[in-house]
Amino acid sequence: MLRKEVLAKLRSSKQEPMIDEDTKEEYKKKILDIYKDMKSMAYHTKGVPLGKLSDSPKLSLRPVTATSLVGKKLQSAGQKHGCWTCGKKMGADGAAGWVADHIPPYSLNMKRKVFKEFESKHNVFSSLPKWKLLPSCVDCCRKQSSVVAKLNKTKSLEDFEKEYNKNGDYLTGGPHYNPNHAVPTSSKRTDHARAKWIGETLHCHICGSKSTTSANTRYTADHLPPREFNTPYVIRLLLFAGIADREFKIMPQCVKCSGKQANFKSLAKKLRAIGAELGFKTAKGM
Ligand SMILES: [Zn+2]
Ligand SMILES: [Zn+2]
Repeated sequence: MLRKEVLAKLRSSKQEPMIDEDTKEEYKKKILDIYKDMKSMAYHTKGVPLGKLSDSPKLSLRPVTATSLVGKKLQSAGQKHGCWTCGKKMGADGAAGWVADHIPPYSLNMKRKVFKEFESKHNVFSSLPKWKLLPSCVDCCRKQSSVVAKLNKTKSLEDFEKEYNKNGDYLTGGPHYNPNHAVPTSSKRTDHARAKWIGETLHCHICGSKSTTSANTRYTADHLPPREFNTPYVIRLLLFAGIADREFKIMPQCVKCSGKQANFKSLAKKLRAIGAELGFKTAKGM
């Protein structure tokens, strides 16, 4: 059957693809290959099992809190087996290095009304160069993300001021800022800063730590299969290909790898494209 004919037939069908067995097998193989690619990104699969999907549909997508039982188990799995994607342990060489921190934070929304109000009153950010990169430890980098997220949601000038007074160091540079280690930049890229810092004795510009990770630095909870593979649409496609492996796990992941999840997104995108070719109707919330 020609591809054109397949597509025509699929478009005219309402529900499940009406295609001949050979074509069906071809598509199944394509889906299986993508699924294998996803699995091959895992270095190990030693995480915290969450049971079958049917038992815990919510838990398989819910964020994991540090104090929950799953969160605690996750940390010990991480300490024992390392990051499930690269196999490295938190704090090990290359697992999580110095974060090249944009000051002011790149993700701080300076176009918001509240921000502009704050700025016209206090004139804090206008005098800063945009941007410089400062070395930050992993913990402070995480904290900065949450501070910025809070600020980007502030509803009033008062709320913004309150958060700024409490956590301004995360926005304008911390007390341990060393001008020799500041690297000017005009872009989102940060690799040149890391290259400059090789061999240098660095301190986190916020907390002054000499190490990039601390005893408190936790593994990030990562879902296996990844969330992108856990939408009703993708699940239907996987079932079509005979993949019924619906066992869910929460995996320990180092900070560096957790920043590189784009691969899963592109794989899931490929799956959805196949679904479209097969004529699977888009489910809501996919
Ligand atoms: Zn890793
Ligand atoms: Zn720090």
